[in-house]
Amino acid sequence: MRFGETVNSLEEYIPFSYKPGIIRLDANESCLELPDEIKTQVLNAVNNVEFNRYPDPYCKELRRYYAEYYGIDSENIVVGNGSDELISIIFSSLVPIDAKVLTVTPDFSMYSFYATLYGRKNSQFNKNTEFNIDVDSFVNTINDGKYDFVMFSNPCNPTGQCLSRNDILHIVKKTSAVICVDEAYMDFWDENESVMKDVNTYENLLVLRTLSKAIGLASCRLGFAVANRNIISMFNKVKSPYNVNSISQAIGCCILSSSDYLRLSAETIKKQTMELYNSILNLKIKDAKVFNTKTNFVYIQVPYARRVFDQLKEKNIIIRCFGSDRLRITAGTETENKIVLQALEEICS
Ligand code: PMP
Repeated sequence: MRFGETVNSLEEYIPFSYKPGIIRLDANESCLELPDEIKTQVLNAVNNVEFNRYPDPYCKELRRYYAEYYGIDSENIVVGNGSDELISIIFSSLVPIDAKVLTVTPDFSMYSFYATLYGRKNSQFNKNTEFNIDVDSFVNTINDGKYDFVMFSNPCNPTGQCLSRNDILHIVKKTSAVICVDEAYMDFWDENESVMKDVNTYENLLVLRTLSKAIGLASCRLGFAVANRNIISMFNKVKSPYNVNSISQAIGCCILSSSDYLRLSAETIKKQTMELYNSILNLKIKDAKVFNTKTNFVYIQVPYARRVFDQLKEKNIIIRCFGSDRLRITAGTETENKIVLQALEEICS
């Protein structure tokens, strides 16, 4: 039987199965629960959902709120069931079967996961030792290798490093490949560095965003692709008709209309991340390199990363370990950060 043949060789991503009492610093979610006032608005919005009807296939209202919050045109947006769904659609349906795909390493693993799952030819561009992309050599690689589709995150998960808007636009201008920039963490950096507003200028630019990080709605699974109308119509042609449920759409509208709250919570998380970063630096962990970050997590290179990861896990603190020598710790609440810092101090001293 050939059924399932393509999945046999894939490395499975197994999300951690949480138990009560566990400190979750592994998935880069917002650490802030919604305040009661906003929760009441959310519950009212859910109360108005017509549960017996299918959702709006085009998320018209949600796109309107999204466009207003970010100052873009709603015609340039398509909504997905998390940006994960949009990445899957890109590789299954929009990147042609014989296209050459370039991703970078280290980066968010789902790009190469889906490229491989759908049988696309995927090469990896290596970042330098500071985990930055050398822009000139990247452009040369794309052009010399005749790549058709290039995808990377900016700011980068897991490294927390960034390319400026100017650098991204340089890449877009100098190549004919479609450049997909995943800006899942841009709310933590600087909207002036986003290329979301450039999609009508460059036909080969595609941007992904999500409400799962700074906006604090990971539970609702709301992802956004921003691109010119031609690319948006391609997504609409192939996505499943009712991909985003009505409850998530209603909650998304409610949250995006709370702009003061959103800006304040992003600032709070940024402050907590900087405190976590500075405190980790102050621990002076032996042989560790701690990377500055424009996101809500801190990336650490340390030769005994696996031991640190395992010992934190024994203390019910879950972070991410990459390979044998890199750790990523999501900023938590002040209390959670204190607990992880104390644990790190005990483990690494
Ligand atoms: N892109 C990046 C860079 C991410 O880190 C993540 C989540 N870890 C996603 C996309 C997926 O986001 P979503 O919750 O919208 O599927």
